[in-house]
Amino acid sequence: MSANIQRNQKAWDILSRMYWSPSGWNIPAKAASELDVRYAEAAGYYFPDEAITHNKAVKRGMKAAASVNLNKIVRDFLHSLSTRHLQYRPALGSYFILSRLAKHKYSGPHGCRVCTEMPDTMIRSNATNFARIKWGAIPKNGLTGHIFILEQSIRETPEQCSKQDLLILKQLIQAIEQLPNDAKARDIEIAWKPHIKSNKQERDALIEIFVASGILRIPSVSQSDFDKIPLKSSWSDHAAVWRGRDGIDQRRVDELFSSVIESSEQG
Ligand SMILES: [Zn+2]
Repeated sequence: MSANIQRNQKAWDILSRMYWSPSGWNIPAKAASELDVRYAEAAGYYFPDEAITHNKAVKRGMKAAASVNLNKIVRDFLHSLSTRHLQYRPALGSYFILSRLAKHKYSGPHGCRVCTEMPDTMIRSNATNFARIKWGAIPKNGLTGHIFILEQSIRETPEQCSKQDLLILKQLIQAIEQLPNDAKARDIEIAWKPHIKSNKQERDALIEIFVASGILRIPSVSQSDFDKIPLKSSWSDHAAVWRGRDGIDQRRVDELFSSVIESSEQG
C-alpha cells in the first residue's frame, strides 16, 4: 500500500474479529476466511506473516530508523491528538526504540539480552496493526512490531497538524508537570482525562509513547527497582518506574516540537 489507510469499515471488522471480542483478546487469534483475508489485504489492513532472523531484524530496524523523516513522524503524531486518528501515534515511540538500537548479534538464552527479540522470529504485523489502529498502541517487546510500525509510517503520506493539536500537547505536558513527586504513570492517565478525547487504553498507550520517545524523563534505575515492579503491572518497565519527580525531559520536547510550534506561530 502506498497511501494512507482509508477508513474501511469492512476491512477493519475483518481484522478486529480476528483479534478482539467483547470479552477481550482472542487467544489464539481467530482465522478469517480466505476471501476476507484477501479483501482486508487489498484494503491495507492485513499483512502476511514474514519469517526473519534476529540479526536481519536488527539490520532492518536500524535501516528503517535511519531512513525516516522525524519531522513527518512528529507531525503525524500531533495530528492524531485532535483527530483521534490513533494509527499515527506509535511511530514516534517506535522510531526512538529502533534509533537507539546498536548493531548486535543475538545473545540468548530466552530472547535477546539486548533487544528481547527471539533468534528466529516472524514479522506478524496484524496484531500490531490492530492495536495501533484501535488504541494507538506501541509494542512492548521485541523489534518486529516496531519495524512494521516504522515501515508503515515511511509508506504513508504526511498528515497536517493544527493549533488544536499543539494546544492538546501543551495541556498533556502541563498536566504531567503539575503532578506531585510521588505520582505514577496511572496518575498521568487520570490527569489526562479532561484534556484529550480518549479512553483509558488510548491514554495508557500514549504514556508508553511518551516513555519510548523520552518525553517522560526516565530515571537511571537499578535491577532491584525493576524487580520491585508488581507482576500484574501492565506497564513497560520504564513506565512502571517513572515518578512525578522525574517529570518531563524539556530538551526532548524542544527537539521534537519547537520547530512545529514556531512555524505554527508564524503561519
Ligand atoms: Zn537483540
